[in-house]
Amino acid sequence: MLLDGKKSYLLQHKDLYQYYMTQEEKDLFNRAFAKRGGLLDIESHPYMHPTNKEILGNIISQLRGNLIYVLEPFHIKPKILIGYLDLSVIGAVATKIDDTYLIGLHAGTIPVFNCFFARLLSSPRLFPEVGDISKIKLAKTENPHMLSAEYALDEQSKDNLYESIGEERSALSFRLGFYAIRHLIKHEIAHIMNGHLEFLKNHGNNSKDFEDLIIPPPHDDSNRMIDQALEFDADTTATMFDIREMYDTIKHKGKITAQYESIADYYKEWLFSIVALYRLMGLREYNKENLLSYTHPPVGMRNVYINVKAMRFLSSPLYADIIDENFKSNLDEYYKNILLQVEDGFEDINLYRARAADSADSTAAFAYFNVDHISKIEDKFHEILPTLRQYSYKYNSE
Ligand SMILES: [Zn+2]
Repeated sequence: MLLDGKKSYLLQHKDLYQYYMTQEEKDLFNRAFAKRGGLLDIESHPYMHPTNKEILGNIISQLRGNLIYVLEPFHIKPKILIGYLDLSVIGAVATKIDDTYLIGLHAGTIPVFNCFFARLLSSPRLFPEVGDISKIKLAKTENPHMLSAEYALDEQSKDNLYESIGEERSALSFRLGFYAIRHLIKHEIAHIMNGHLEFLKNHGNNSKDFEDLIIPPPHDDSNRMIDQALEFDADTTATMFDIREMYDTIKHKGKITAQYESIADYYKEWLFSIVALYRLMGLREYNKENLLSYTHPPVGMRNVYINVKAMRFLSSPLYADIIDENFKSNLDEYYKNILLQVEDGFEDINLYRARAADSADSTAAFAYFNVDHISKIEDKFHEILPTLRQYSYKYNSE
């Protein structure tokens, strides 16, 4: 059921601000994500600590509030539910069942991000102006790419992370984690609003029922250039949503919120969070020969692509009233510095590994110079765009 108009949508979905779901919605989640752990029911979870319940509850409420904000400019607003999947590794997926779109955020994403950013901030080379770096203790780990909550939480308590980085840097680490989570969710919203699920059902490699149609699809050896084109498209739209949110935060609150002295500070925190997020997910064994069969473009390319899109959006007349020439002319410099800072952070917290740029096995993953593959993905995108637009809420809303 599609709902026309903002008012009816908001009225019917004011419960999105709560973290509870109706029984019917829970059943839907469990059906749609039966193969992905099903719904993590935080209210009735028997073993979960009340503090964790509260944190997860607060975050899901904020994400649902963010969803309403993101959809606000669209004339047509499909029903989208966000819930936690009972999986401890990081990730988020989108699907559609019975005319309802569902976004499942792997529950482990939140503790992993929180621990990851807190650990990065144990490096005094990062954000040295925040907190008192003379008191922090570097928290090295055997595996900075800790993608599962069990591992991250174990290590966090071992290293006493939040105590060791202090209050101000802890607050920054939560903020960085929340940018990353919101970006992931916006990416899934983008898959929905840009019509990717309908497109894949009708034109994808393997037409499936929606019950089995989940983005991202499981890996196989087939040609995945369509999937990669859709991933870039979702990254672009998520970045647009992020930039708009940045603009609104600064513009409509009258002035810049307390924690940011300027848009540049806000932007650099956001970009650091995104670059670090992809770096965290990055060092898989990408192999140049198999580039066509990956479901997602290599993370290094996604980073570059997001930066290019962010720079383009920020240069648009839409945002001209908060952006000065100085900020615009520094954008490329910010990105280059942030890439190096993220590498500094990984180098500092890592017991063993060299920097990505020095390590042969990661070169392919970070082959951002691989413009050839990026343009192949773009060619594919332009090839499918006329068809894709038929299904796009975004396009048909404009
Ligand atoms: Zn995706």
